[in-house]
Amino acid sequence: MQADSTTSTKSLAGTPVGVRKVQLEQRLVELGARLEAIDEELDSHHDPDWAELATEREGDEVLEATGGAGLLEIRQIRAALARIDADSYGDCVKCGAEIGEARLDAIPWTPLCRGCAR
Ligand SMILES: [Zn+2]
Repeated sequence: MQADSTTSTKSLAGTPVGVRKVQLEQRLVELGARLEAIDEELDSHHDPDWAELATEREGDEVLEATGGAGLLEIRQIRAALARIDADSYGDCVKCGAEIGEARLDAIPWTPLCRGCAR
């Protein structure tokens, strides 16, 4: 990723938080596209003929679980973007401590520091 990205991130452009914001927004787009694909896949199985097939239904359960995890992640990412706008991103929402860079690298949308996430 280029630091001189032309993405409009206000004064955050080129700052570490600005880079996070771009990452989070891209992830949000990715997840949205994936959830749409899952919805279409599930809709295509509503035909009663499909319901007869146990393997298809197992597949649907996996898809629904994936979709649920995706929705949760989307909520967390939106909350993280709101924290960036509120200038509180990177601070643990529970204890206020700084969330480490390494942890943010692994889970950029985490609202909790390592200690509180346990
Ligand atoms: Zn904490």
